[in-house]
Amino acid sequence: MDNHKELIFFPTWTAGRKGYAERMRQVFQDYLRQKDLLLTPQRMAILNHLLEADKHLSQEEIYHALKPRGIGKVTVFRTLKTLEQCHLVEEVLDPAGKPRYEIKMERPQHDHLICVECGGITEIQWPEIEKAQEKACKKLGFSIIFHRHEVFGRCSDCQRKQR
Ligand SMILES: [Zn+2]
Ligand SMILES: [Zn+2]
Repeated sequence: MDNHKELIFFPTWTAGRKGYAERMRQVFQDYLRQKDLLLTPQRMAILNHLLEADKHLSQEEIYHALKPRGIGKVTVFRTLKTLEQCHLVEEVLDPAGKPRYEIKMERPQHDHLICVECGGITEIQWPEIEKAQEKACKKLGFSIIFHRHEVFGRCSDCQRKQR
């Protein structure tokens, strides 16, 4: 399950991957500069890890992956907060209510199917639901800023194991 790619990108994205990482680095650097902070190798390593993993990662997973490189828990925690503040990374809650982090920049609107057995997260796009939602909200005069659908259940792997 470890090499499984979880994140949905726009179809044109693969071609622009190199440029994508570069743009992300730029946004992060500009934001840090405003706060009088530097894009240190540690902060860069955390961002690169999120890009390479292509998954919804917990703070612990990031910490354990980068521990051999001398990156501490506090650095991981603070860097994730900063990445959230500059809208490069977003939080998703796992079945236990603990946050996982996903890359957010230039990605399509999607929802999450969350497995309560293994904690696996699958991204899904539902254009029909978006449309129905917009229509219903419009009727009520409600202006949507964002929405979040989280569907909890058992993934196909876990259902197979139970039998
Ligand atoms: Zn599962
Ligand atoms: Zn996601």
